[in-house]
Amino acid sequence: MKERVFNFNPGPSALPLEVLKEAREELLNYRSTGMSVLEISHRSKEFDEIMAQAVARVKSLMGLTDDYHVVFMTGGASSQFFYAPMNLIREGETADYINTGTWSTKAIAEARILGKSVNVAASSEDENFTYIPKEFNFSPNPAYVHITSNNTIKGTQYHSFPDTRGAPIAADMSSDILSRVFDPAPFGLIYAGAQKNIGPAGVTLVIIRDDLAKRSPETLPTMLRYSTYVAKNSLFNTPPAFAIYFANLVFKWIESAGGVAAVEKVNNEKARLLYQAIDQSGFYRGTAREDSRSKMNVTFRLPTEELEAKFIEDAAGEGMGGLKGHRSVGGLRASLYNAVGPDAVRALVSFMGEFERRHG
Ligand SMILES: *Cc1c(COP(=O)(O)O)cnc(C)c1O
Repeated sequence: MKERVFNFNPGPSALPLEVLKEAREELLNYRSTGMSVLEISHRSKEFDEIMAQAVARVKSLMGLTDDYHVVFMTGGASSQFFYAPMNLIREGETADYINTGTWSTKAIAEARILGKSVNVAASSEDENFTYIPKEFNFSPNPAYVHITSNNTIKGTQYHSFPDTRGAPIAADMSSDILSRVFDPAPFGLIYAGAQKNIGPAGVTLVIIRDDLAKRSPETLPTMLRYSTYVAKNSLFNTPPAFAIYFANLVFKWIESAGGVAAVEKVNNEKARLLYQAIDQSGFYRGTAREDSRSKMNVTFRLPTEELEAKFIEDAAGEGMGGLKGHRSVGGLRASLYNAVGPDAVRALVSFMGEFERRHG
């Protein structure tokens, strides 16, 4: 067995090897403190610097203006499903949601549990969430329009964002944040669980525009208000310090790779290679509609479930892991996050060719 496999896990998922090594290097003695970063105070000057760098790097990588706050929260993207409606939908207001799969469905459910008024402006449930809708029924003046930019499970992704006519977009970008360049201006809220493109599970990156951060009602418990994280620079309580430290190293890694635009170019090439391999064969079949395909999670099927099981087993034997589709949909899924190199995709494509020759 090789020390490292080609890791196509959907999340937690591959992290850059350089970053893992850097974290290992510093693990026992962080910057001559004689302590691990796991052991230092979140109010120390060392951690202050980590936090300041992480925030500055997110702003610079994503081209965020000073209108945006970058905070680090806990509870995963799943907790943002209630944070957003709780903080941002005011008395008498409605929020619009576009339902493109499991995660959007869960986000809608949480808003409804809170008794908020929700308008589903579009849904692709009619075709089993295999596409991104292009027509929307927005309400007159929504508090926000919620989208899931990339559907990790179904393998679909917005190729362009809906025109919400000035209403702020609230986006769950858990599985494609920092994978491509986009204009942040229409967005009021962006959140992402870290464990796909950013770092370890346990921290959630939240980007919130100042006008939305001001909406948090004073009646909410302190830890449930976005305004607390903004006012206290994510340090009202002890934050997931190690996860933030690690995320900062990943942000630095993206910077040294040439920034998001450079990473996007590589991501485009990786996705092109894999979709081409699928499209050129009569053996593999992509499950997402072509105009909605994800560059992060490539979902496909083989002619039978037996062959799919055999594919996963044989691929594992060749040092390729994490290819099993989500338990709710079956089939295969290759997740091609930033830290998955083109070498991994080339190895997968070559294995697919061989597998088809043997079984096709
Ligand atoms: C993984 C994922 C989630 C769930 O994230 P948690 O951090 O586990 O709560 C939500 N939305 C999307 C798009 C995801 O990919």
